Amino acid sequence: MWDVVGQDHILRQLEFGLKWDRLAHAYLLAGPAHVGKMTLAIEIARAVNCIARQESPCGVCAQCTRIAAGNHADVRVVGKVSRAEGEAARTVIGIQEVREVLHQVSLKPFEGSRIVVIFDGVESLSDEAANALLKTLEEPPDQVTLLLLTANEDAILPTILSRCRRLSLLPVPRPQMVDALVSRESCDRERAEELVRLSRGCYGWARSVLREPELWEARGEVLDRLAQVCRSGLEDRFAYANELAAQFSRDRDSSQQLLFEWQRWWRDLLLIKEGADGYLHNADRAEELRLHATGVTTAQIVGFLERINKTLTALEQNANARLACEVLMLNLPVASV
Ligand SMILES: [Zn+2]
Repeated sequence: MWDVVGQDHILRQLEFGLKWDRLAHAYLLAGPAHVGKMTLAIEIARAVNCIARQESPCGVCAQCTRIAAGNHADVRVVGKVSRAEGEAARTVIGIQEVREVLHQVSLKPFEGSRIVVIFDGVESLSDEAANALLKTLEEPPDQVTLLLLTANEDAILPTILSRCRRLSLLPVPRPQMVDALVSRESCDRERAEELVRLSRGCYGWARSVLREPELWEARGEVLDRLAQVCRSGLEDRFAYANELAAQFSRDRDSSQQLLFEWQRWWRDLLLIKEGADGYLHNADRAEELRLHATGVTTAQIVGFLERINKTLTALEQNANARLACEVLMLNLPVASV
C-alpha cells in the first residue's frame, strides 16, 4: 500500500515499473512546494527495497519500516532537509556533499537491495555539483535509484532533465484530501475543509499544520505583518523591504513563499472586487480583506499583482534583492481608508 494521498497517475506508472522490472534509474519529481514530493520519494525508496517485492511497498517489512523511520543506511537525502538542526537554511547544495553521496552510489548497498539518493531541491545544486551529478546520471550504477525533487523545473539544466523520467505531482482534489485528513489524521471535517481550502491541493501542508500547530501560528504572523505593511507609511514599508531582502539572502525559498503570500492576499482582494468571495484563499481573513478592498481600486490591485510577479522574476534572475523589494514596496497602493 502506498502511503500517498492522490497522485494516482504516478502510482500506476510506478506499479507497472515494479511489476515488470522496468523502473528508471533516475526520476524527476516535479510539483509545487508541499504537494508531497518527499513523501512520494520515500515511498519509492521503500518500494524498491521492500522484501515483499510487490507492486507497492508492503509497509511492514524491516526495509519498509526502517526507511519510513529515516534509519536506512542506503537511503540518503541531500539538500535542505538534511541540514543540521539550528543551521541556517542553505540555498545551494555544494559539491562536497554531492561528491560524498555519489561516491556512496558506486559501492554496494549496505542493508537493502538498492541505494536511493533523494536530491531535495535539485535546482539548488551549485554548477559544479550539477556537473558531478550529470556524470552519474550518464552512467548510473545498476543498484542505484536517483530521485530529483524540484518545485522549479525551469531552473534545472536541460542535460539533467533529459536523463530523468519525469513524474509531475498534481494538486490533490479537495474531497480526497478532506477524506484523508479525517481518516488518517483524525481531524474533524470542518477543520479539514478549512485546511484543504487553504492548502491549494498540497496535502503535505495541511498535514504539517495539523501536526505542528506552530506552522499555523507562523502563517498568522506573516499575514498580520503583511496587512500592517499595507496600512503603514513609507518608513515602515522600507523597513519591511529590508527584512524581505535580508530573508532572501538567508533563504531564497522562504522569501519566495512570503511573496506568494502577498500574491494570494492581493488575488483575494481582486476576488472580492469581482464578487467572488466564495473562492477566497484566506477565507479565515475575509472580513479584514473586505475592509482592505474598499480602500483600493481594481486597477491598483491588478497593477500590484503584476509588480509582485516582476519582483519574483527579478529575484529569480539574481537582481539586487534590496532594490527589487524596495521597488515593490514603493508600488504598494496606499489604501484610502
Ligand atoms: Zn516492505
